[in-house]
Amino acid sequence: MSLDNPTYLVSRACPTCGASSSVQETSSRPPGEDESFSALEKSWFGFFKTKIFFSYNRCSNCELLYSPVYFSDEALQELYRQMPDNTAGVSEGNLRRTQNRYLKELGPEFEVEGDYLELGPDIGLLTAGVLPMMPKGGLWLFEPNVSVHRALQKVVDGTKHVISREMTDFNAVPDGTIGLCAMIHVMDHLPHPGEIVRQLAGKLNAKGRLLIVTHDESSLLARILKRRWPAYCLQHPQLFNKKTTESFLRSCGLKTFRSSRAVNYFPIIYLLKHLLFAIGMRSASNWRVWGPTIPLRLGNRVTVAVLDN
Ligand SMILES: [Zn+2]
Repeated sequence: MSLDNPTYLVSRACPTCGASSSVQETSSRPPGEDESFSALEKSWFGFFKTKIFFSYNRCSNCELLYSPVYFSDEALQELYRQMPDNTAGVSEGNLRRTQNRYLKELGPEFEVEGDYLELGPDIGLLTAGVLPMMPKGGLWLFEPNVSVHRALQKVVDGTKHVISREMTDFNAVPDGTIGLCAMIHVMDHLPHPGEIVRQLAGKLNAKGRLLIVTHDESSLLARILKRRWPAYCLQHPQLFNKKTTESFLRSCGLKTFRSSRAVNYFPIIYLLKHLLFAIGMRSASNWRVWGPTIPLRLGNRVTVAVLDN
């Protein structure tokens, strides 16, 4: 894409309420919208690079924190084609424990009545945890990254399933048939979250639940790190807190059933490394030793929602 071609950026209204009046809250210096596409592209590919992100404004009407200028759908497709693995360094065991904690938020007696739908299952860590909760029913797995499809296939072998790379059109799924729909760290990434979540709401059956994990922009970590908070990045066109998650879900025909701060399992060294990097000690990124693991509430939120009838 040419540097002087501005079509890689588009203006956005608030994804929850459609208002266009908002007040800037944070941005990189300079903000992403003032950078060339090649600078944005370089910053896109990882945590340990010069940090650039688009201005985050707070909607004057509903208080959602979102970027009023963001990548066009075409530019975004191009960038996601080479998305890096952002959990490198955290063992699969710790990722699995973290994901299983998310499922506990559904309650001890919860069983999936109907089919299961997941957006962005990656290698199927959460999917594996859901299988024992499903007495019957099939799986709809929408994963744009084709390179993980084989690993995902192994997890669901023996259960009726569809694996698709589709991420915007869910017409293949019959309405009212889904008992559980999961989106783990997906909603922050969607350029048109309302279009997606409204479709998914239509797929839920009367007892269906939606399980969402998002970064919490009102968390202590976000307030301490300010513009160095890792979730302020080019991959996140909006960021939620407890209240704005609820109003967003309401705009999609859903109501919050449960909301809590998520526990994530991390090696202590991994955390220290990222913290030191965030405050400017770049050499820390070269550490390759992992020590003991601790559970931490690290600025993520788990939300369980149901249909708002
Ligand atoms: Zn709004």
